[in-house]
Amino acid sequence: TAAVYDVIVIGAGAAGLMTAITAANRGRSVLLLDHAKQAGKKILISGGGRCNFTNLYASPENYLSQNPHFCKSALKRYTQWDFIALVDKHQIPWHEKTLGQLFCDHSAKDIVNMLLSECRQAGVKVQLRTEIFGVSNQNEGYQLATSQGDFQANKLIVACGGLSMPKLGATPFGYKLAEQFGHSIIPVRAGLVPFTLHERDKEQLAELSGVATDVVASNDRTSFREALLFTHRGVSGPAILQISSYWLPGERVSINLLPDQDLYSWLQEAKQSQPRVLLSNALSQLLPKRLVQVLARYAGWPDQRLADLSNSTMQAIAHSLNEWPLLPNGTEGYRTAEVTLGGVNVDEISSKTMESKLQPGLFFVGEVLDVTGWLGGYNFQWAWSSGWVAGQSV
Ligand code: FAD
Repeated sequence: TAAVYDVIVIGAGAAGLMTAITAANRGRSVLLLDHAKQAGKKILISGGGRCNFTNLYASPENYLSQNPHFCKSALKRYTQWDFIALVDKHQIPWHEKTLGQLFCDHSAKDIVNMLLSECRQAGVKVQLRTEIFGVSNQNEGYQLATSQGDFQANKLIVACGGLSMPKLGATPFGYKLAEQFGHSIIPVRAGLVPFTLHERDKEQLAELSGVATDVVASNDRTSFREALLFTHRGVSGPAILQISSYWLPGERVSINLLPDQDLYSWLQEAKQSQPRVLLSNALSQLLPKRLVQVLARYAGWPDQRLADLSNSTMQAIAHSLNEWPLLPNGTEGYRTAEVTLGGVNVDEISSKTMESKLQPGLFFVGEVLDVTGWLGGYNFQWAWSSGWVAGQSV
């Protein structure tokens, strides 16, 4: 016979932990299952080990979804300030790094320990190393057959996350379960992920591996001003990760390597004020020398004195630095992606409760849903907000 709970949560990641804590604090008996050996593995490695746990400026504009309105209610009901209050209650020291991104001073372990201690206090039964063989639904609720026996509950929460970082235990289980109960899935792809380059570009830019510079990366949908980092595989850094979520294969991304400079005007002025200076030396006043050398070779600029440059040459140079039309070959994929775009179609989910509109008692929270945040603590905030809302309604 199956052990019976009010609520079973599948996935002891950020969203599952928050759901379980919230439901148990409301007096529900809660079983939190995971196939991993450890709860919150992604939290532990997040933010370079310091967990960027929320963002001061988190708001619906920072999320991608087929339905951009869906995330509004949850983000409003459980805000970044609510999570900060929880962190403060546990006396975890934190700081703002940049752009409203909040990190632990010490370690991401502080966040996982906080959530596990909340689980203990609320009486959540956390059961790890549990393979789920199958889920069925009858009058009595949901039955789970697992490697640790059978379980039953009236409410089932799917908090299985997305596909990024399979090494950490990501599986398509959440999407499969959604489909089993009649849900549609918005096609998934890797987001917040570095770009790879075509062979010729990769070879010519290889020397730049390790060089970082402030850029604006944009396409016709959006733009981000942050750092770009050249790597031995292609380009990365926050500006690239951000724009990657808005990129489709075959498209170009415009990179402004001099976001504060209208380079054409600058070159015209420099031609008057320092006519005998070589182009490469002039540009080195604005950009790292190595970057200038490699890009000059890559783009084939003549390394002449400024006085000898024609207007059309200056225009071409300005264009390639202010609007470098980068053509990615692809992305590094789920192996290094921070998130999965797409997921369970939110039009079939209640934005007030995270409950399925098709299957009573079934809930979806966190990254498994078609809600994806920008880089900067927004994805965890979505996990906390959607988890809290579900925990309040089971
Ligand atoms: P997850 O945290 O992925 O949890 C899903 C859980 O389900 C896992 O514990 C998994 O083991 C379990 N599971 C999966 N399949 C099964 C199955 N078949 N049976 C049983 N259990 C299963 N976001 C930020 O906001 N700030 C950051 O600093 C940040 N840094 C990141 C760094 C990296 C390297 C990565 C990969 C992501 C980062 N993210 C960050 C994104 C963030 O980690 C995720 O958006 C967030 O963890 C999603 O929470 P979740 O609970 O929905 O899913």
